[in-house]
Amino acid sequence: MIKVHGACHCGQVSYEGEIDPEKVTLCNCADCQMLTGSGFRVSVPAPAATYRLLTGKPKVYVKTADSGTPRRHSFCPNCGTPVSATADSDSPPFYSLRVGCLRERAQLPPRKRIWCQSALDWAQDVSGVPGIAGQ
Ligand SMILES: [Zn+2]
Ligand SMILES: [Zn+2]
Repeated sequence: MIKVHGACHCGQVSYEGEIDPEKVTLCNCADCQMLTGSGFRVSVPAPAATYRLLTGKPKVYVKTADSGTPRRHSFCPNCGTPVSATADSDSPPFYSLRVGCLRERAQLPPRKRIWCQSALDWAQDVSGVPGIAGQ
């Protein structure tokens, strides 16, 4: 387990937790595409005992999956950055941390891709897209 440090884009919300880098997951579900406004989402679970909210008060959006399971999605009320998600409980077993908000993200590549049936083909491998520094 390693300690990670997270924050939203504006810095109001910050938190820390401990994670197993082997559990970093890339999710291709349609909800993750919409909730991130991107091609997929990368998350890693932190056991609740290791999670600590340091500053700010995230706003919560309860998302109900196709399966009917509700899930609490937390985001910064000021900048909108998604920071974590949990089971719909006041004492959830773990916090799913959004890897893009973690200071250590460069060292946290995904180890598994899930919900591949709804994957955007173009989002699975962009290594062939011409790339430049800056825009
Ligand atoms: Zn923020
Ligand atoms: Zn997903």
